[in-house]
Amino acid sequence: MENTGKKGFAIAIDGPVGVGKSTTAQLVARELNMTYIDTGAMYRAVALYQLENGLDPHNSQELEGSLAQIKIDMDNENGVQRVFLNGRDVSALIRTQEVAQAASVVAVNMKVREKLVNQQREIAAARSVVMDGRDIGSHVLPHAQVKIYLDASIETRATRRTKELLAKNQPADYQTIYEETKMRDERDKTRELNPLVRAADAVYIDTGEMTALEAVGVIVGICRGA
Ligand code: C5P
Repeated sequence: MENTGKKGFAIAIDGPVGVGKSTTAQLVARELNMTYIDTGAMYRAVALYQLENGLDPHNSQELEGSLAQIKIDMDNENGVQRVFLNGRDVSALIRTQEVAQAASVVAVNMKVREKLVNQQREIAAARSVVMDGRDIGSHVLPHAQVKIYLDASIETRATRRTKELLAKNQPADYQTIYEETKMRDERDKTRELNPLVRAADAVYIDTGEMTALEAVGVIVGICRGA
């Protein structure tokens, strides 16, 4: 029988690159005392494995051949998620732009998606989750009680990201960030398998004029009424 991940209470939060899904989902999970699962981190861990082992993320044979050697574990302590690749904490290592780009390449592969979606459904079957990603409401957890689609223009998202990096004294070039965001969006929206789409029953929230806290308030309100 197909594992649909149907059990417990599930909140699915989808949306494009840099729209604030993780911050929002994490705060919603804390507020409602649920487990936060960042599925993007799993695709990033697969990508990191490729890069660290000199494998080409575009080469499906190399990529698929490596999957049996990849074990990803998620740990959630005080609302903060940690990701382990073959037992090693890679939570910080997966946050580079290089890994982000490679993640959107490996995410196109069917075998990669099958492996990660199965694991995501297993996690959701065991507890109540707030899960964020691209295909959670449309594919991973079609029975989620609450589905949210967060959105904002590429300009807004690239501006926010540039400011975030500058505030951390890290180099940030708006134009480069804009182009990278656009490229990842396109790959996510146009891929054949489980592309980024707004599920028909998802609530659309434009975060362009909203702070993360305001978005959290709206989502928690929806959940309390669900
Ligand atoms: O959300 P984040 O930027 O960390 O995700 C990294 C990449 O993983 C995305 O650009 C997307 O290609 C892929 N992804 C996906 N499906 C998900 C979550 C992430 O394809 N559910």
